[in-house]
Amino acid sequence: MELRVAHLYPEVMNLYGDRGNAIAVRARCARRGIRCEVLPVDIGDPFDPLDADLVLIGGGQDREQRRVAPDLVERGPALREAVEGGLPVLAVCGGFQLFGHRYIDHDGSVIPGIGVFDAETRHPGPVADRCIGDIVVETRFGEVAGFENHGGRTYLAPGQEPFGRVRLGFGNNAEDGTEGAIRGNAIGTYLHGSLLPKNPALADALILAGLRRRYGPGAELPPLDDAAEERAHAAAVRAAERRARRPGRPA
Ligand code: GLN
Repeated sequence: MELRVAHLYPEVMNLYGDRGNAIAVRARCARRGIRCEVLPVDIGDPFDPLDADLVLIGGGQDREQRRVAPDLVERGPALREAVEGGLPVLAVCGGFQLFGHRYIDHDGSVIPGIGVFDAETRHPGPVADRCIGDIVVETRFGEVAGFENHGGRTYLAPGQEPFGRVRLGFGNNAEDGTEGAIRGNAIGTYLHGSLLPKNPALADALILAGLRRRYGPGAELPPLDDAAEERAHAAAVRAAERRARRPGRPA
C-alpha cells in the first residue's frame, strides 16, 4: 500500500514543530512497509486534493496566515469537495483557523478562510492574553496531549462538532470547553507540539482513514510497539497536570 500526503505551505505554516506531523506519518507508515510520499504544496503550486490521501497544514503567525490565505481560498472549493468525499485532513492552529470561515485578526482585519469547518475566529485585540500552555483534550480517539499558543478565539456554529473537550488548557476560546472541530475525516485543532508523535492513536486514525478511502474498508494497519510514543504522551500529560490552566479558572 502507499499513502500520498499533501503538506500545505510547509515552510510558511510551521510553528512549534508542526512539520513533525508529516515526519510521524511517514515513520509510522515505514514501520509497516507502507510507502509514504509527502508532497509539499506551496503558494501557486498545482495540486488536486483528489490526488491526496491525507492533507496536513500547520500553524502560523497572523502575518503568515495573511500570506497564504489568498492561495488557500483559491483551493477552497476543491478542498471542501474532497473533505465531503472523506479526505482526511489535520489542520493545526493557524491552519485550523483558515479552514473555518474567517479569522478577524489582532488589528481587526479579516483573513478569509475556506469554510470546511462551520467556525469563525476572532482575536480579542493586542492587549488580550494569548492562550498559551500545555493542553489535554478528550476526543473520540482517546486522550490527546499537546501545546497551544494562539491569540485568536474560535467559535463553532451550532451543529459543528468539536474535535474534543478540554480537560486541561484553553482550547477554542477558553469559554465553552470545546477544542478544535471535526467534519468527516477532517480534523482541526489548536494542538502543536508536534501533535502526532506523542498521540499515536490519532496518527493511525488519520493514516487508516486515508488508506481506506483509497483501498477500501478492508484496509488495516498492523499494530506497532508504541512504548516510546506512550512514554512521550504520558510525559506531556504530566506536564499539563503540573502547569496547565484548569477550565473554569480565569484565562
Ligand atoms: N496567528 C494565530 C493566532 O494567534 C495562530 C497562531 C498559531 O498558529 N500558533 O491565533
